[in-house]
Amino acid sequence: MIDEELVRFMLPGAHVLSVDELNLRSVHTVPAELEAYRVTMYDRYGAAASIRERNTFYIIRNLFIATFFRHLANAVLYAHHKAKTLTGRSRIAARVVRRAMKRTQAECLYARRKGLYSIVSMIECLIEYERENAALYAWLDQHPEIKKAGLFAAEFAIDLVFQHEIAHCLYQYDRRFFDPVAEGIRDALASIDASDDPHLLEEIECDIFAINACFTDYSDRLSQASLRRQARSAVACQLAYAALLEDAEVFLAANETDYVRPPGGQEIEHHIQRYQVAIAYIDDFAFHGPAFVRNAKDEVSCADIDLNLITSGLRGLHDVRDDSSRQVAFLLANGYLSTDSHLFDVVVENASRTIWMEA
Ligand SMILES: [Zn+2]
Repeated sequence: MIDEELVRFMLPGAHVLSVDELNLRSVHTVPAELEAYRVTMYDRYGAAASIRERNTFYIIRNLFIATFFRHLANAVLYAHHKAKTLTGRSRIAARVVRRAMKRTQAECLYARRKGLYSIVSMIECLIEYERENAALYAWLDQHPEIKKAGLFAAEFAIDLVFQHEIAHCLYQYDRRFFDPVAEGIRDALASIDASDDPHLLEEIECDIFAINACFTDYSDRLSQASLRRQARSAVACQLAYAALLEDAEVFLAANETDYVRPPGGQEIEHHIQRYQVAIAYIDDFAFHGPAFVRNAKDEVSCADIDLNLITSGLRGLHDVRDDSSRQVAFLLANGYLSTDSHLFDVVVENASRTIWMEA
């Protein structure tokens, strides 16, 4: 039985859009009492995990994260069409990626703490970037094939996150996939000095399960080379999101004196190690059996998102182009806080709805 009330209770602040039953038993060997549901939601706090309540798993598909992935993909595709040289493309992509990161992070900050610095960060985004974001989206409207490619890349990446969570759900029940994988990646783990960390091992095995699942699901829509490129971009998207959240926590801890970081979460080093193993696996993957459709044609072009792009996007995330933007942001933020700290909710809601929720 789906208990939507319970789901909403467990995820306070999240906007739950739908809850659907997942039939894991059709493919996997799981106990009869295990139930799983896909919870599609929009949550700025940023959860992308599964919630377990006795024998029931609620696996989250967070469209806030999917939206972020879409912005990363759009940035790369836009840069590719706007500049002819490699340097030109990198410069434009880094600028647009930084905008997407700053905006997504501002919303994450505000979801964590309705305080001065999160409001300042959001207002800075609006002052400095809103016009450019609107122009980018107007440009995308005129280029439907590029818009489609951005959406496709985001769907692939959020599917990878979702399949990773399904893997956690199966991990203790159906070992047919995981045991051979653990054996196969032993060398890769030793090379990153991670072979004795059971938690990291589970994460990596679940990543590899997810890559396989996406290879299978998308194999008739993309050529072999493009499957690898989409998968590489998708793991880079995941790393970008993890880095963004980590940076948000550090920023809040540094600026809000009484901010206490919530428990849980992984060190960013873990995410980098996971990324390295995933990329090595994608590059070595030998495409055979059902995951390889000979002569499959690309349905869309690929947005190549990589580690360099994420690193350059993160650089200078808390800087402003113009000092007066920061002064105005502080004035407005103090104004909001002196009346009602929740008043700014309306600004965040409206700003998101106009551009960022657009599908
Ligand atoms: Zn995990």
